[in-house]
Amino acid sequence: MKKTIVDYNLSNKKVIIRCDLNVPIENGVITDDNRIVQSVETIKYAVDAGAKVIVLSHLGRVKNEEDKKDNTLLPVSKRLSELLELPVIFVPCTRGKKVQDAVNNMKSGEVVLLENTRFEDIDGKKESGNDEELGKYWASLGDIFINDAFGTAHRAHASNVGIASILPNGIGFLVKKELDTLGEAINNPNRPFVIILGGKKVSDKIAVIENAVKIADYVLIGGGMSYTFFKAFGYEVGQSIVDNDSIEFCKRIYEENKDKIILPVDIVTGTAVVPNTTTRLTDSKNIGENEMGLDIGVATVNNFKKILLNAKTVIWNGPVGVFELEKFANGTKKLCEILANLRAKVIIGGGDSAAAAIKFGYKEKFTHISTGGGASLEMLEGKELPGIKVISEK
Ligand code: AMP
Repeated sequence: MKKTIVDYNLSNKKVIIRCDLNVPIENGVITDDNRIVQSVETIKYAVDAGAKVIVLSHLGRVKNEEDKKDNTLLPVSKRLSELLELPVIFVPCTRGKKVQDAVNNMKSGEVVLLENTRFEDIDGKKESGNDEELGKYWASLGDIFINDAFGTAHRAHASNVGIASILPNGIGFLVKKELDTLGEAINNPNRPFVIILGGKKVSDKIAVIENAVKIADYVLIGGGMSYTFFKAFGYEVGQSIVDNDSIEFCKRIYEENKDKIILPVDIVTGTAVVPNTTTRLTDSKNIGENEMGLDIGVATVNNFKKILLNAKTVIWNGPVGVFELEKFANGTKKLCEILANLRAKVIIGGGDSAAAAIKFGYKEKFTHISTGGGASLEMLEGKELPGIKVISEK
């Protein structure tokens, strides 16, 4: 079992907590603070235990100087301060004298937030490339390192793997909850165990499908991925999204798992991915040459429902249609409704499925909504996450 924050005496120690405070911000305004809310428990625990808390996080992607102004953590520090009901000292840089001074002047129970770790990516991808010198520098600021950023646990960055390779370390409450909930569902599920996969591209999810058919009783496939299967069967798919490199894979995996893989039997089509396109409900074999499949139809929803009603464990990753557009949101909406009413452990695997579940008002209805789309997908692939692997065992 991995060490956690509770395994350390934090009193008067400088504790670096890597959080995932990567929230959507539009014109300086945070539009969904869920990740900040989820990070509070660990930070608060460290504060109450008398630590000097140094918080690190990335935000968005930072490729050049221009990207800096849209990706500063300043608005996040304000929201974090409100949620903690404590002042948060924001340091507008990632290294140097200001950082040094802020850390040296800290008193027990204070919180410092450094600027976006990805500002270090401008000069040679130092954060994302896990630059050794950067990891050492950040590690030199603290005594103990806690990884509470599940959203980046599938990446080896200087701010997680780099620091953890040097300092005594552990995981925070959020990462523990994610690992326990997802880990239990994946490794020891109550059966029937159903995995629902949607989203855009098969190529992103080949390894997931490959493992899903091994661990689950059913794998329900919707969304843009369906059309590569249909093309593999020789159906007309019109203008639907197809991953030509994955056709052979789809053919083989379906052939080997016919009873397990459930594909859409009907489709809502449009002629373009725009709000006012003309729609049509058709069976999966009869998509018109000029049409594209953009949602699952009612018969498919009912097929999925029959299987889901018996399920004891469900993991869902990827919307089953272009849920951002009203005309193609029905399948994903209905799926949320079915999942919300199941008497089963239902886990939403982050990313767009989490966004859909929240958009359609089902946020409180599931066992768990993961804060890490990519990380939960890699767990579904059966991989060990580098950000977790580096953490010491008890
Ligand atoms: P992913 O990041 O692979 O989970 O993909 C999520 C995206 O897939 C969402 O933005 C959906 O709009 C999109 N999507 C779902 N179904 C389809 C479809 N039939 N055609 C194109 N895109 C889709």
